[in-house]
Amino acid sequence: MQRDYYEILSVGRSADGAEIKKCYRKLAMKYHPDRNPDDKEAEAAFKECAEAYEVLSDEKKRQVYDTYGHEGLKNSGYQGPGNFEDMFSGLGDLFGDLFGGGRTRSRRGGPQPGNDLRYDIEITFMEAVHGLSKEVEINRRDTCWTCEGTGCRPGYKRETCPSCHGRGQVIRSQGFFQVSSTCPQCHGEGEIVTNPCNDCAGSGLVEKSKKVSLKIPAGVDTGAQMRLRGEGEGGRRGGPSGDLYVVIHVQEHEFFKRDGETVFCQFPVSMVQAALGCKIDVPTIHGKKSLNIPVGSQSGARFTLKKQGVPSLRGGHRGHMIVQLQVKTPTNLCEEQKKVLENFDELCQKHGQHKEQEGFFARLYHEVVGKKDKEN
Ligand SMILES: [Zn+2]
Ligand SMILES: [Zn+2]
Repeated sequence: MQRDYYEILSVGRSADGAEIKKCYRKLAMKYHPDRNPDDKEAEAAFKECAEAYEVLSDEKKRQVYDTYGHEGLKNSGYQGPGNFEDMFSGLGDLFGDLFGGGRTRSRRGGPQPGNDLRYDIEITFMEAVHGLSKEVEINRRDTCWTCEGTGCRPGYKRETCPSCHGRGQVIRSQGFFQVSSTCPQCHGEGEIVTNPCNDCAGSGLVEKSKKVSLKIPAGVDTGAQMRLRGEGEGGRRGGPSGDLYVVIHVQEHEFFKRDGETVFCQFPVSMVQAALGCKIDVPTIHGKKSLNIPVGSQSGARFTLKKQGVPSLRGGHRGHMIVQLQVKTPTNLCEEQKKVLENFDELCQKHGQHKEQEGFFARLYHEVVGKKDKEN
């Protein structure tokens, strides 16, 4: 047998809205789950009160209940309050500051940490390879120290938002449902600034530029991130500052390329140097180094210079440097150079040194002939 709603709320049948509200508030506070953790009986009583209040606080439902009782309500389509959580959504305007609006209580109005910020920095290839210290100027919003981030003129305090009574949420009724949304007056903070600080116009933050010194380690590459704790946006109402994330972008180099800790470089040598072999100076990121080019080196040949690459970010070792030969064909020859090369070519033929080229055609030709022979 379902108990009478008036009995549940201990109000007379002629009680008005305000009286019903007052009685419900008293009972709901008594049985509120926050005050009676893990108490099944209190929870059941709390639900019972919520249901009774939902009906008696609604003029239409109350009228149906008064005339036809519980059965009449059921026949009119009333299913009783939905789930447990829904009951809390209706409590905000009753409890206000007491419970901060039921279970969804948060630290509204309390310390608010500052946002993290991102700062993109472009550095040269050599700076990335060797590391650098640099001071950069960053514009960001910092805590306003006039009001210590509260947004209030000194001597004043933030006040409970009159629209949501500190809940940060406002409730609208749609039929039997209650929809809550962020309070438009306080933007969900539950408090408003009535006497704004002159320096920050009530925001608690002021635009400031700050010099931050960056120590970029040797070996960084594009996409590397550095986190500078507490160098982000300032906090409000005593909250800590956010962090600053520095994102690194490395410019391309005219001669060097890199893949992690390995550096590549194409280096030109003359036809004669490649043929006769030689000792040459090649550029590395650590300065000039000498490299032996063996006799008969081909264009595209690769030579490794050990430990002449990029230092490891974790320290300890360096990558390698790879030099790739680019044999240059001489151009703009004078008559004498042409003559020497013609003589050289004659000697090549005499020594049968064009054989590779001839062999290429010979193999191609025989293959074709071979097929034709078979077809005939
Ligand atoms: Zn509000
Ligand atoms: Zn201020």
